[in-house]
Amino acid sequence: MLELLNLIGAQLKPAQDGQWLDQIEPATGQVTGRLPRSNAADVEDAYAAAAQAFPSWSATPIERRAACLRNLAALVNQHSETLAQAESQDNGKPIRLAQSVDIPRAEQNLAFFASAIEQFSSEAHIPAGHTHINYTHRKSIGVVGCISPWNLPLYLFTWKIAPALAAGNCVIAKPSEITPVTAWMLSQWVLQAGFPPGVLNIVHGLGPEVGQAIVEHPRIKAISFTGGTVTGAHIARTAGPMFKKMSLELGGKNPAIIFADCDFDKALQTTIRSSFANQGQICLCSSRILIEDSIYDRFRDALVAKVQRMQPGDPLDPATKMGAVVSASHRDKVLGHIQAAHSEGATLLCGGGLADAPNERCANGYFIQPTIFENAGPSCKINQEEVFGPVITLQRFHAESEAIQLANSSDYGLACTIWTQDLGKAHRVAAEVESGIAWVNCWLVRDLRTPFGGVKASGVGREGGWSALQFFTEPQNVCISLSSIEMP
Ligand code: NAD
Repeated sequence: MLELLNLIGAQLKPAQDGQWLDQIEPATGQVTGRLPRSNAADVEDAYAAAAQAFPSWSATPIERRAACLRNLAALVNQHSETLAQAESQDNGKPIRLAQSVDIPRAEQNLAFFASAIEQFSSEAHIPAGHTHINYTHRKSIGVVGCISPWNLPLYLFTWKIAPALAAGNCVIAKPSEITPVTAWMLSQWVLQAGFPPGVLNIVHGLGPEVGQAIVEHPRIKAISFTGGTVTGAHIARTAGPMFKKMSLELGGKNPAIIFADCDFDKALQTTIRSSFANQGQICLCSSRILIEDSIYDRFRDALVAKVQRMQPGDPLDPATKMGAVVSASHRDKVLGHIQAAHSEGATLLCGGGLADAPNERCANGYFIQPTIFENAGPSCKINQEEVFGPVITLQRFHAESEAIQLANSSDYGLACTIWTQDLGKAHRVAAEVESGIAWVNCWLVRDLRTPFGGVKASGVGREGGWSALQFFTEPQNVCISLSSIEMP
């Protein structure tokens, strides 16, 4: 049984009041360890450590900060196989996905922001006549909070802490209580990587307890949050009146727009991946597949034929392509969405229920069949609410304008995919779709320099590249007069 601890200052320690939470493996339903059920007192402890470390860390040369991030990246690389095993076991995701995406990307996040801070620069504005110089001084903010979800645990955890630390802030980070293990493993290497005590603190526990304490702490100056839209709205209500900087990366209901002139096989294969990767539990997954009328039947039939053959397997089996959903409560939530789709008259094309356990080890695991519905109108719940599981709908469109209208008929606006060989159409549609990201003839291709985030109910702010470093710094304009007489 694993026993996870908080990292506060230089110490790994349990919650002050000795409370614990069970950690459950989704593929088996078994308790495999416990994590601290921390509360506001532990956050206060972490704040004291972070506040003490801040003056020195923010004054540390960027080369030194970058070296610490690179050292941590190297430790992730050194332990990558153990981390991938842990991520798969903790989250239910196929080990192959953890090995090829989650852990390499966590390492890249740390190394990327090490390089980014070395290249980061600020602006100067010099008016004609050289009467004044304005320059932007980008200062470290102070102590900041980073709160991450369970679907890509170490990947999204490092995506937040790396720019925050690179920019000279001290961090109180809270991984999801549902998937805490890889963040705990990382916490054991933080001091070894050279970070001074208190620069990065990792506090485990429940959202409404630890997360809430971070968000409402009067001296934590910025909140970087990734998670559900309802939680994001709650955080905004708390932190907004406190005038904290906020980056909120929230849910999605992403359309895949399949035009008749697409590369059929590539669109089909990628749409299967974009719909069901990580059991549909990626914020960027396609969940509304919009198909042009003239190829609707052919695309639907080919899609259903392939998806029907996909069966969830034991996440720890290297051959597994679909694993378990993350928890019993999430399984029940996904099944509730499937039930609601039936109630609203949608037609089930495949899946629709629990999947057989792939082996005896997984007899009590949380496995759901990949599920496809059609004949649900755009305003049905199944086309409006985020399922965040292996469930998609198909809708038919006749014209480009109708595709755009359907794509935008959602409160969310995170990502879309557009499948067409017509370059003009691709540009037109990308420009009209209300989303933070538009992929044309591809999906989940990520360049860490690009702005990442959503519009509408998918959040505010952008992560990635300069956007993240701008978020984690406070710009101050310094104006210097160059003339001996002050101009009116
Ligand atoms: P969640 O909102 O339940 O939890 C996210 C994190 O917030 C967890 O660490 C949780 O403990 C914490 N939290 C919960 N209540 C809190 C509170 N009151 N104050 C502060 N923190 C609190 O989300 P989840 O179920 O872990 O993740 C799934 C959601 O995340 C989906 O909606 C998905 O679309 C979204 N997501 C978005 C992105 C993106 O980049 N836009 C990426 C991944 C996941």
